[in-house]
Amino acid sequence: MPIVEIISRACRDCYRCLCKCPTHAIALQEGHARIVAARCTGCGQCVSECSQHAIRLRDSAAEIANASQTESAGIRPPAALIARPQPTEAQLAEILDRIGMAKPEDELNCGACGYDRCRELAAAVFEGIAEVELCVPFLRRQAGRISLILQDSANALCW
Ligand code: SF4
Ligand code: SF4
Ligand code: SF4
Repeated sequence: MPIVEIISRACRDCYRCLCKCPTHAIALQEGHARIVAARCTGCGQCVSECSQHAIRLRDSAAEIANASQTESAGIRPPAALIARPQPTEAQLAEILDRIGMAKPEDELNCGACGYDRCRELAAAVFEGIAEVELCVPFLRRQAGRISLILQDSANALCW
């Protein structure tokens, strides 16, 4: 059981919490933020970051203690982190290529996705706890392409 809970009906998909979490315990899945129990330390930073009050710390130790042994094990991050699947260099390169970073010099390491380095985001994508759409420069390029297509379509309609 995660120490915090996202109240989906209140969430507005702004993704601020993803960037705030120091242990990357909030992942993007199918467009929505979700808690990765194995990484959550219960620091509460996401709770104060959410302007929609859509994240709550579970009320009490009792609520957490009621979780099953398996779920409770998930709240100890070091053990969970050791068990994380590690991508090969080729798998990382494939994901980076999808984001538009075919060469090491393309990696901006700007931190806008919430990960300090592009390779960390790629590793999280490999792990299934993040999506390439978290990369802001990638999204901008995608938006630029869509804008050009729309412009071409509009031009074609004028002829
Ligand atoms: S900060 Fe709040 S509203 Fe934004 S994605 Fe996270 S839970 Fe949802
Ligand atoms: S409580 Fe802390 S560790 Fe857990 S999801 Fe929120 S910010 Fe991340
Ligand atoms: S936002 Fe994109 S360019 Fe910036 S660190 Fe993340 S993956 Fe790299």
